[in-house]
Amino acid sequence: MRYKQLSDKKENLTKHQEIVLELLEKANEPLKAYSILFNLSEHGVKAPLQVYRALDKLIELGKVHKIESKNSFVACINSNCKANSNTAFTICEQCDEVLEIHDKKIFKKLGDLANQGKSKLNKYNLELYITCKNCLK
Ligand SMILES: [Zn+2]
Ligand SMILES: [Zn+2]
Repeated sequence: MRYKQLSDKKENLTKHQEIVLELLEKANEPLKAYSILFNLSEHGVKAPLQVYRALDKLIELGKVHKIESKNSFVACINSNCKANSNTAFTICEQCDEVLEIHDKKIFKKLGDLANQGKSKLNKYNLELYITCKNCLK
């Protein structure tokens, strides 16, 4: 039983969700939905809707995050990350490297900012454009 050998992380995922997640985990860059579809056609994933459904669920579970400005998807780097609405990334403008930022203080700070306007912060999607340390060399 292959299913039994999978880590906790992949429990309760459907076959499609599992292979989409595996592909994103192996990719070293954010992938667009059509390239996910292209890569998974050999696994029997043929319809864009199958990819979108799997992505929606994985995002809801916090296992995949969407890079809004790139309309692309990345696997969460932190298996404990339950973030499905709050995401923060740095994106290198030179090499396109995308890194997830984990900092609870960000939510607190942004929440405080929203509070000053007597509002409640529901979610955020931060994308910081940077020049990474490799590209600075
Ligand atoms: Zn995450
Ligand atoms: Zn770079």
